[in-house]
Amino acid sequence: MLKLLRYLKPYRAAIALVFLLVFLQTLSDLYLPTLMADIVDKGIAHGNIPYIWKMGGLMLLVAAVAVVFSVGASYWSAKIAMGFGKGLRGKVFTHVQNFSMQEFDQIGTASLITRTTNDITQIQQVLVMMLRMMIMAPLMAVGGIIMALSRDVTLSWVLVVALPVLAIMIVLVAAKGLPLFKSLQAKLDKLNLVVRENLTGIRVIRSFNRGEHEKQRFEGANLDLTNTAIRVNKIMATMMPVMMLVMNFSTIAIVWFGGIRIDDGQMQVGDLMAFIQYAMQIMFSLIMLSMIFVMIPRASASAGRVNEVLQMEPQIKSTENGKQANEQKGLVEFDQVTFYYPGAEKPALSDISFRSRPGEITAIIGGTGSGKSTLVSLIPRFYDIQKGSIRINGVDIRELEQSELRAKIGLVPQKAVLFTGTIAENIRYGKEDATLEEVRHAAEVAQAAEFIGRLPEGLEAPISQGGTNVSGGQKQRLSIARALVRKPEIYLFDDSFSALDYKTDAKLRAALKQETGEATVIIVAQRVSTVIDADRIIVLDEGRIAGIGTHDELMTTSEVYREIVSSQLSEEEIA
Ligand code: ADP
Ligand code: MG
Repeated sequence: MLKLLRYLKPYRAAIALVFLLVFLQTLSDLYLPTLMADIVDKGIAHGNIPYIWKMGGLMLLVAAVAVVFSVGASYWSAKIAMGFGKGLRGKVFTHVQNFSMQEFDQIGTASLITRTTNDITQIQQVLVMMLRMMIMAPLMAVGGIIMALSRDVTLSWVLVVALPVLAIMIVLVAAKGLPLFKSLQAKLDKLNLVVRENLTGIRVIRSFNRGEHEKQRFEGANLDLTNTAIRVNKIMATMMPVMMLVMNFSTIAIVWFGGIRIDDGQMQVGDLMAFIQYAMQIMFSLIMLSMIFVMIPRASASAGRVNEVLQMEPQIKSTENGKQANEQKGLVEFDQVTFYYPGAEKPALSDISFRSRPGEITAIIGGTGSGKSTLVSLIPRFYDIQKGSIRINGVDIRELEQSELRAKIGLVPQKAVLFTGTIAENIRYGKEDATLEEVRHAAEVAQAAEFIGRLPEGLEAPISQGGTNVSGGQKQRLSIARALVRKPEIYLFDDSFSALDYKTDAKLRAALKQETGEATVIIVAQRVSTVIDADRIIVLDEGRIAGIGTHDELMTTSEVYREIVSSQLSEEEIA
């Protein structure tokens, strides 16, 4: 919590203003009972009508001023808290943008979203309250005690008894409620998790008839949250009546003993009335203090989660004054590369060496989990390798500026991702200033033009969230077009043809060959037919190179490759 307070720095002036307003408001509130006592004792008791008018007017004025202070304090504290939340959200968002895949894997996308939204909102809400209560509660407690003493010292003995009783009650309730508040947050997380899994996995749940099971899972989490929330609220609900009880008994005691003192002529009626009000103010400030102590742990849990994100240093930092790598165009070299995923025991890739020159097509083939996607993701430096080096145009990618490196690459990921917007906007994602002609051409080469042409809006057709309104194959072709429009030095296709039928696959590759011309192309594929005429085929097996060469070479040298080929050929023959 404290670490986040430094983000309040830009609001120093506004905070000072809020504190001043609250200070003045509290002083006015403390003054009102005294005015009332004077009206009763000096005005009403002696039938002094002008005095009553004068002091009554003053009282109205003070009350009105207090309202103005209070409104101002509310306005500014809300403004500060919202500005603080906005700033913090922006900070987290920009920080997360610099994360490498390592950090994303570590915190998890879902949790990152909750931390940028829900957790920051929690902190914001507490901040609004804190800004006002922090000054008001102690000032009112101390001021109330002083004012009460100035009215009547003897009667203050009632407070000496009542205040500790109230404090003990508050501590008891808080001790029971606080742990529950914390578990409430965890249970909310659990519920979010179940809902999220249900919504993203709805197709699987339906097709496997697991609806009933999921329903029970949801109901379990929901009931758990509800029960805890009810328990918390029960405890908090007892708080109010208990406090009212203590306060009302104190009032009775004050009236009782005060009555005796008035009888003896040691005190006046107005003093008694003022005293009761000061007693109330003191007790309310105690309740306010207790609320602060309840809220701080809740907010600090959220603050901790936000801080964890902010303090996470990206493992892969952009090198400043990185080298240029423009000697050649698109030469990719792997030199004895070994890579472990963070925390993994076995390397995902070991001892990978190959070289892919401009104008060449290098294909990577291998079973699932053999490390094909991993290999491709190392080239844009999504992860850093542990041994060996990866060079582009002769320069180690760790010495290149990240934006420089990625500008050279057109990546078509295994799982095609589209953004909300039109088809044209999605293709222009690869090159912002692409002309309509360039966009059309890219779509043509990617074999997407035909289905785009069938849409009534054509290139302006909208893509819904996650690209759910186009098929898997259409999505793949759009993400290929996005890479093509960029005209990069290096093309990376990670299993980008898997959702296409054989005919489209063949047509696409023929068109690609023309398009990619002098660029370096690395294609990950499952089908032998996709890789068969590549300049170089790398056969991966459990993260190692099991064979490297052309199709004909591999047919004689690589057992693994022959197995892949024979398994697929028989499949095709059957079909
Ligand atoms: P392929 O693309 O050939 O099917 P991958 O490169 O995706 O294989 O995966 C290779 C191995 O690395 C697998 O054993 C997989 O479990 C592991 N792996 C993949 N991604 C991650 C990740 N983000 N964190 C940890 N391990 C991973
Ligand atoms: Mg893969």
